[in-house]
Amino acid sequence: MIFVDKRFWQKEYNKTKINKMKKIALFPGSFDPITIGHESIVKRALPIFDKIIIAIGYNANKKGYFTLEDRIKWIKQVFENEPRVSVTDYDELTVDFCKKVNAKYILRGLRTSIDFEYERSIAQMNKAMTDIETWFLLTTPETTAVNSTIVRDIIRHGGDARLFLPEGIKINKQ
Ligand code: ADP
Repeated sequence: MIFVDKRFWQKEYNKTKINKMKKIALFPGSFDPITIGHESIVKRALPIFDKIIIAIGYNANKKGYFTLEDRIKWIKQVFENEPRVSVTDYDELTVDFCKKVNAKYILRGLRTSIDFEYERSIAQMNKAMTDIETWFLLTTPETTAVNSTIVRDIIRHGGDARLFLPEGIKINKQ
């Protein structure tokens, strides 16, 4: 029989309890690549949540342009001084992944009414399936026009996309 100190379990139990109480949000997306728009959403959501997990979803209909490794590397670089932000990838239903990491909230940015219509269905279906709430932040006027597709096109054609990339992130043509 293995003897385990009761205090050890008490500590582990408390840790789980604390984690359960923490407001954890999952920020899912392609981040192909991360832009100042994504960065702005995370920074503005930090006062609302205890922890934000940026989660790069595998999407069968949307094959990434940049490798997963590069996308993760750039995100880590952007938030290297923010211990409450982490990054990972996932390959399952977003709500299932939320449960796995104990995230009770999904975070999304809204740029346009098109975003809204699309996001509304997903958020309502997610809410119906689970109890996970989606929190939307409107984009700031300066970042509303920024989108990863256009940033990718600029890079692909050898242009300078630094204006739309978080500070210090340098991405060259692949
Ligand atoms: P997805 O393919 O899931 O839309 P994206 O990486 O394009 O993945 O976007 C992830 C999230 O970031 C989405 O909620 C999107 O609305 C938000 N987002 C994208 N671009 C911007 C931006 N310029 N400003 C604010 N939020 C943005």
